Amino acid sequence: AHLDRIAAVDGAVHAFLHVDAEGALAQAAASDERRAHGQLASPLDGVPIAVKDVLATQGLPTTCGSKILEGWVPPYDATVVVRLRAAGLPILGKTNMDEFAMGSSTEHSAYGPTHNPWDLDRIPGGSGGGSAAAVAAFEAPLAIGTDTGGSIRQPGAVTGTVGVKPTYGGVSRFGLVALANSLDQAGPVTRTVLDSALLHEIIGGHDPLDSTSVDQPLPALVDAARQGAAGDLTGLRVGVVTELGGDGYQPGVLARFQESLDLLVKAGAEIVEVSCPSFVHAMAAYYLILPAEASSNLAKFDAMRYGLRVLPEHIDNPSAEDVMRATRDAGFGDEVKRRIILGTYALSSGYYDAYYGQAQKVRTLISRDFEAAFEKADVLVSPTAPTTAFKLGEKLDDPIAMYLNDLATIPANLAGVPGISVPSGLAEEDGLPAGFQILAPALADDRLYRVGAALE
Ligand code: GLN
Repeated sequence: AHLDRIAAVDGAVHAFLHVDAEGALAQAAASDERRAHGQLASPLDGVPIAVKDVLATQGLPTTCGSKILEGWVPPYDATVVVRLRAAGLPILGKTNMDEFAMGSSTEHSAYGPTHNPWDLDRIPGGSGGGSAAAVAAFEAPLAIGTDTGGSIRQPGAVTGTVGVKPTYGGVSRFGLVALANSLDQAGPVTRTVLDSALLHEIIGGHDPLDSTSVDQPLPALVDAARQGAAGDLTGLRVGVVTELGGDGYQPGVLARFQESLDLLVKAGAEIVEVSCPSFVHAMAAYYLILPAEASSNLAKFDAMRYGLRVLPEHIDNPSAEDVMRATRDAGFGDEVKRRIILGTYALSSGYYDAYYGQAQKVRTLISRDFEAAFEKADVLVSPTAPTTAFKLGEKLDDPIAMYLNDLATIPANLAGVPGISVPSGLAEEDGLPAGFQILAPALADDRLYRVGAALE
């Protein structure tokens, strides 16, 4: 049914870069076998899933939305993919994304943009717009995204889906093509909070192949979602972050946010106002730390090891450097080049302390703000994104306007704490979905599910 749906709507939505109909049907048949013998591998055995094209999939192309990886077929699976397969989830295909996960609209994909199923002239968020659009358009019941500065939560918000960024280290990064190693986390994109909890329990947990993986059991996420769905939040302290709201946020987004807060109060929660003064510097710190890490990660695309190789014209006997230059020039898009230049500059000697060093200090201050806030509140909340989905092309020529979408999501990545975006309804002025973000202390991902499920 999902393959039929993809065939019917993906021409217009363009959520997928690659569909593996044959593989998905074979996995579904194997699942039917297990079901017939009463031996299901997991609660989601047989439920199909779409995977963001930044995770390595053995035998399936993995492009990261970039020309430079065109034609690369990984010889191994990312740990997340290994776990999906072991749990019996048929993989429908790979979803579209901003090139190397840099962006907030999926317009930076080298393979053309994804369209928001709510209004095809609008963006589905990014970088994981393909995963969110696939779930919103009923092309897949579940998807995997990755979130470095908001790329699961912001697409979730603007497509009316649920998106979760787990605690840093809670889900293995092995086989996830790194954008910024200290910020990246893979996580669920689904239509309900309970679905995310079920999926998170499958992909999460310790992995010896990832040195930053947390070596302790996950909290009981599905139990927390079930408990939250019962609707009693008596005694829970919900902190509204002063710095993540107000100016720059669309009125309809703020109205839906307030309505969700009222629902939490009705469920017995207590609302407290908390201030995190360093959050106003989060964007600036992020756009130094991320390009620094990304520029170093992308150095491996050298025309020798993976994918594309372009031989320079007009040069006889080109050197390795000539080939590298021609390949990177043709293979990377503008946003990727912009960040490589920024990152290389920020890391260069003489500037390192002034930029990268300062940004790391701001990062520490942001973590301290979170620690202080979590003394006063069990969870923190804000609108997920300042606006609903904007029009395709609207912000493409203005990188700063594009970056501003991540104002509310970036602090969680800098501090490593988990976050979820749940739909909060449609903004009056444009009838488009808005998102409600819930943040919890590191390793307390269960709180996201308890509070998120209470809002459904
Ligand atoms: N939009 C943010 C960026 O461009 C976040 C990206 C992400 O989370 N992968 O960096």
